[in-house]
Amino acid sequence: MIITVTGAAGQIGYALLFRIASGAMFGPDIPVSLRLLELPQALDAAEGVAMELDDCAFPLLGDIEITDDADVAFEGANVALLVGSRPRTAGMERGDLLAANGAIFAPQGRAINDNAADDVRVLVVGNPANTNALIASANAPDVPSARFSAMTRLDHNRALAQLSGATGAPVSAISRVTIWGNHSATQYPDLSNARIEGERFEIDRTWVEQDFIPTVAGRGAAIIAARGVSSAASAASAAVDHLRDWVLGTPVGDWTSAAIVSDGSYGVAAGLVSSFPVTSDGGDWQIVEGLEIDEFSRGRIDASVAELAEERAAVEALGLL
Ligand code: NDP
Repeated sequence: MIITVTGAAGQIGYALLFRIASGAMFGPDIPVSLRLLELPQALDAAEGVAMELDDCAFPLLGDIEITDDADVAFEGANVALLVGSRPRTAGMERGDLLAANGAIFAPQGRAINDNAADDVRVLVVGNPANTNALIASANAPDVPSARFSAMTRLDHNRALAQLSGATGAPVSAISRVTIWGNHSATQYPDLSNARIEGERFEIDRTWVEQDFIPTVAGRGAAIIAARGVSSAASAASAAVDHLRDWVLGTPVGDWTSAAIVSDGSYGVAAGLVSSFPVTSDGGDWQIVEGLEIDEFSRGRIDASVAELAEERAAVEALGLL
């Protein structure tokens, strides 16, 4: 399995690569080769990470290639984790952020189109992840859009952890939690279908609206406030979970959350990369259909999807799609 990681010398990359090389992503039987894409100024740091990977003597780890050339990095890739992106800096408008990232994700989409393996699966982690995935997919016309996804698994895992903390139920007993919409402050963590030990349970709506939703949506900022830098190990762990479930399948009776290209389900405009409840049997992600959406959920989903539509309009206007 050839796995390409962009932004490999960054802090998420530093947490992610060791998990992949240890076999945490695809299990103990699948050897992995790594392709690390970095900016020219970060190639030395990427070399250092590769030296540490060597020093772990992971039995599953094959060769490691380090490059600043996207065509080389995506050559033969079965899995591509697009982590490196341009962070928002002080005073930067959203339009500037989208343009700066368009300059990264449009060429990477083209490089995936031209070089990756036929079965490539792409996970975008770098923010604004949903719209970066849309840009990459639009620039890879020969790769089915179902092969592109953006990460809301960390939000999903945060929701599981919060519900576990509030109820005392272990995360392993919780199922059918959903993240809808954009991986941003407008995301909607939804417990309307959640189960504990397979059973529906009484949910305090005040707790959901005033505590649970803001805690999940604001968790990234809380971690920056506490740690001084953004979450990295938990983001890397969520990326491992996302790819493992996509390639090996989701557990029977449960689903997970991933941002994928909408087919118009649940009133989400077709073509937007939005988070949905999804399952996988090892092929493409499938949206869980037929869930009831109450008025509160409708309003929250629509608000987040409206933000995605605005982002799409902005990158369309920039000629990135
Ligand atoms: P991180 O590794 O901490 O983060 C990388 C990206 O992941 C950021 O866009 C970050 O968004 C995003 N992200 C998504 N979800 C989360 C989450 N839950 N918690 C934290 N981050 C999340 O960034 P670093 O600055 O340490 O490293 C980035 C690396 O990427 C650098 O080494 C840089 O050189 C490289 N880079 C490579 C490119 C390439 O390969 N062509 C292009 C651009 C950069 P947010 O900023 O919003 O937190």
